[in-house]
Parts: sequence; C-alpha cells; structure tokens
Amino acid sequence: MQILDGAAVSAHIKEQIRQEVVELKSDGKKVPHLAVIIVGNNPASESYVSNKVKSCGEVGFGSSLIRLDATISEEELLSVVNKLNEDKDVDGILVQLPLPKHIEENAVINAINPTKDVDGFHPISQGKMVLGLPTFLPATPYGIMLMLEHYKIDTVGKHCVVIGRSNIVGTPMTLLMSRNSNPGNATVTMCHSKTSNLKEICLQADIIVAAIGRPFFLKEDMVRDGAVVIDVGINRIDDASKKSGFRLVGDVDFDNVAPKCSFITPVPKGVGPMTICGLMKNTLLAARGK
Ligand code: NDP
Repeated sequence: MQILDGAAVSAHIKEQIRQEVVELKSDGKKVPHLAVIIVGNNPASESYVSNKVKSCGEVGFGSSLIRLDATISEEELLSVVNKLNEDKDVDGILVQLPLPKHIEENAVINAINPTKDVDGFHPISQGKMVLGLPTFLPATPYGIMLMLEHYKIDTVGKHCVVIGRSNIVGTPMTLLMSRNSNPGNATVTMCHSKTSNLKEICLQADIIVAAIGRPFFLKEDMVRDGAVVIDVGINRIDDASKKSGFRLVGDVDFDNVAPKCSFITPVPKGVGPMTICGLMKNTLLAARGK
C-alpha cells in the first residue's frame, strides 16, 4: 500500500508554478492576482481561505482577502463581485462557499466574470468542461487528476466508482475520469444517496473516489484488494485530546481500508492540498489568458 502524499505533490507543483511566476516577471508580464471573498466567519471557511491566501504567497501570486459581514445583502455582495470583475489587476475571483442562507449561491457564482472563474463553478466553465473545451476545471477534481498523473496511476479501462454527485466534486470527477484522456478513459459509475446497491458497486471498483461528507463512511468490506482509494471528505469530529477539541477525518475508514489498497489518500494532507494546486493552476491560467 502506498500513501498518495498530497502535501508532497502539492509542494512539487507549487514550486513549478513559482518558477513560472519568476519567468512571467522577468518577461515584464503581470504577476497573477487572486481575490478571495469570505462572508461571515465559519471556522472551516476561515481555515480554507487562509490556506489559499498563504499558497498565493508561496507561489509568488498577489492576493486580496475580502472579509464581509455575515449580514451583508446579496445585492451588496454582487456589487463587490462586480468591482472585482472590473479590476484589471485581479485575475481570479473566488467566493468561499457556503454563503449565509439569505444569499443565493448561484446568483453569486453566475455574477463572476467567467474569465476570472478560477473555482470553475460558473455555468460557462462547467459547460465547457462537459464539452471538453479548455476552461477552468473545478479545483478539487482537477487536483485529484494532477495527483493521479503525478503517481502515474493507470486509469485506462479501469472501473472508477465516484460516490457523490455534487456540482463541485462528484459530477466533475465523473466527467474527467470518463474523458478520452490520461488520466481518464475509465469506465465510471456515479453513486449517490439513492444508490441501492452501493456496496456491490464499490466492490467492483478499481478506483473509488469518496466525496460524501460522512466520516468513516467507506468501510473495508466495500473495497476490493488492490483498489485505489481517493478520500475527498473533510469532516470534523470531536477529539478531546486536541487543543481545538476536534480533528479532521475523511469519508474513508482509513485504518481498516488502507491495508487493502494499492494507493490511498490520507486526510488531512491528501486531496486538500491538491485542491489548492488546482486553484493555483487556474489562477495562473487566468493571468496568462489576458
Ligand atoms: P455534498 O453534500 O454537496 O454532496 C455529497 C454527496 O454525497 C451527494 O451527492 C449525496 O447524494 C452523496 N451521499 C450522501 N449520503 C450518501 C450515502 N449514504 N450513500 C451514497 N451517497 C451519499 O458535498 P460535496 O461534494 O461538496 O463534498 C463532499 C465532501 O468532500 C465533504 O466532506 C466536503 O467537506 C469535502 N470536500 C473536500 C474538498 C477538499 O479539498 N478536500 C473540497 C470540497 C469538498 P445526494 O446527491 O443523493 O444527496
């Protein structure tokens, strides 16, 4: 069993991006700039945005963190997004989700200029992805593809089971793995909460991507020997031994599943850092596209 070390792969890819930024600078070109909006102070969101801003610094991007009160109206938030759309210095815009319930997330996503949609959530980005046209890929599935590529994991003709069908993870993951590309060219089954025979389907999988949001959901009796398991889940569970009172676990019952796998991602330091790589690559692409 080999651990797919997201932290190490991410450091490697970030170093490549940093070198590209050095080249951009020496060619007299603009340094990429990412604007991140956080609404309210959800602790998980705070941690995600601080990692994203920190990573911008590591690769040499400029960044702005825009903090908005949880009581901000949808109209006011849309006006902040519009200002960033018009700001020539800003290449990428990311609005950290989830947003407070009184704000329609789709309205905010749709307001982002598609040329700055580095999260890849805008309908134009998603539509281009479906058609296989060049675009910003949603950062998490993109990061997973980068990881599979890095470890040269053979996906061609394999049966990949994706558990979860969200617009940001499960659905794009299903599309990317089924594309005529490498990694890709897998036969993909997408499962969700209404799938009746999930265990049987998982037992046929060469590759399982778990994107459910339930701690320890994927058990060892659902995984066949030699499978590749990618754990997207980030779940907080109580842990009195930690100063914070919690720890992060994935959707996979790692301790029991890992011995059966050929490759497996840990949580943390698996898919999480790769998601940030996807975002950094998209921001570089946005800046280059100008
Ligand atoms: P969503 O809640 O949007 O989607 C979860 C999916 O899991 C849904 O499609 C749901 O099915 C499915 N599901 C729920 N229960 C079951 C079940 N019992 N059996 C089969 N399928 C089930 O979550 P996200 O896709 O946004 O995120 C999934 C997880 O990944 C979360 O833990 C999230 O925190 C994490 N995440 C991690 C990232 C990273 O960088 N590592 C980035 C993004 C997310 P249905 O559609 O029928 O409701």
